[in-house]
Amino acid sequence: MRSELYIDGSWKTASDGKTFEVVNPATEEVVHHIAAATAEDVDLAVKAARRAFDTGGWPKMSGAERARYLRAIAAGIRARQAEIARLETIDNGKPFPEADWDIADAAGCFDFYAGLAEQLDSNPEEPIALADGRFTSKAVREPIGVAGAIIPWNYPLLMASWKVAPALAAGCTVVLKPAEVTSLTALELAAIADEAGLPRGVLNIVTGAGSVAGQAIIDHGQVDKLAFTGSGPVGSKIMAAAARDIKRISLELGGKSPFVVFDDSDIEKAVEWILFGIFWNQGQVCSATSRVLVQEGIYAPLLKRLVEETNRIRIGNGLEEGVLLGPLGSKKQYEQVVAAIEAATAAGATLACGGTRPEGFEKGYYLRPTVLTDVPLYSAAWVEEIFGPVVCVRSFKTEDEAVELANDSRFGLAAAVMSKDDARAERVAKAFRAGIVWINCSQPTFTEAPWGGYKQSGIGRELGRWGLDNYLETKQITKYVSEDPWGWYIK
Ligand code: NAD
Repeated sequence: MRSELYIDGSWKTASDGKTFEVVNPATEEVVHHIAAATAEDVDLAVKAARRAFDTGGWPKMSGAERARYLRAIAAGIRARQAEIARLETIDNGKPFPEADWDIADAAGCFDFYAGLAEQLDSNPEEPIALADGRFTSKAVREPIGVAGAIIPWNYPLLMASWKVAPALAAGCTVVLKPAEVTSLTALELAAIADEAGLPRGVLNIVTGAGSVAGQAIIDHGQVDKLAFTGSGPVGSKIMAAAARDIKRISLELGGKSPFVVFDDSDIEKAVEWILFGIFWNQGQVCSATSRVLVQEGIYAPLLKRLVEETNRIRIGNGLEEGVLLGPLGSKKQYEQVVAAIEAATAAGATLACGGTRPEGFEKGYYLRPTVLTDVPLYSAAWVEEIFGPVVCVRSFKTEDEAVELANDSRFGLAAAVMSKDDARAERVAKAFRAGIVWINCSQPTFTEAPWGGYKQSGIGRELGRWGLDNYLETKQITKYVSEDPWGWYIK
């Protein structure tokens, strides 16, 4: 396990020597200590990234050259996949097979953006047709500069990859700050990039508190772009900080996503996708479908099967075989989710199952998967993101009512619909005010497809070619090609 900051191609302790604890949420044991970056350390990292961008040659390399580094990073991740997945489980609590899937996806993300970096070479400029024949014009794409990337703890290495891979592909240099509760695998990414020979300063990783290291990144005058994934309140702070220097921003924030199940659906399939939509990663998923709307014809039998299957989910340490629900990511998260369940029942919601600590678990941030019914509309449980294994289920009568309930949220990250009637599913998919819509499933995510939210769920899109756009500026180059004098001042 690494414990130092990765700045300008070297490993460094924090300038004041301070560290913070790494806690395994399955055991509550302190398993490691990691450097807590100061504003001074962040300044060194940003300056290293600045040099690598301005004079180090990274943005001037061909896309194919940058792609070679990205592919080497992908190979480096794959070569250590099981070991890194294990670290992720120890750090975050997620079941090992989920961590293994995440790490494979992270490697795939570097390979995908290597492909897009190569395409930048073959299609670097776009001719612009002008009505005025005395000029020619073209648009070229260029990297924005130094990107400051700040990520959450729910998908540690994957969220790092979603930012680092497209930024590097575009020719940006990066200062990445992982979440303080899950920094282990980001440091492994630095080690892998180092082994891949990535030029110094191109990728810098500073671990530490959001209020110190994160704040220093967003306030730094030499950072050109902020890419953030995390909560809405911190997203607002980032937008405000960016406003001062007109930094470019992309924000991936929270959600309270609906899943509309029509009564022509197969109940077993619906239950399976509802479970996957909310209990995968302990429900700590920004796009989790945490509000389930079931058409009244199948509400009672579906709820019965949902509760049965929820109660059968095997809870435990994510390193144990067969476990499908690990502990929540941290003590703070556990306490917040428990408080949200208590507030829900106090507001009149019914606990159909879960809501308590599972029996036999004295240590670890474990919580039984929870199904809430009778949740009053406009109560916190219905409106606010809980970010835990808690689903609210209610019935609806008509398609119009379902769409209205689904869209009645300040968030708009994701939404899902299930129906055997394709025309209806497509109609509802179009009616959702959300950036990601699933039909007949919930959560599968693909590197090739755009990811991001409407409304207060964010600004911009990650993944796919849209993810690359996040790190590119557009420049027009216009040339006067007429032999005639311009003839404005000098006739
Ligand atoms: P958070 O906002 O508390 O923290 C996210 C990151 O911001 C952390 O690295 C933290 O250290 C940093 N940070 C905190 N204060 C800061 C400050 N003042 N300046 C700069 N950085 C600061 O969020 P979290 O609890 O880590 O993650 C959970 C949230 O993330 C949920 O709301 C979830 O929906 C959201 N999320 C969204 C997506 C998406 O793609 N839309 C994906 C994953 C998580």
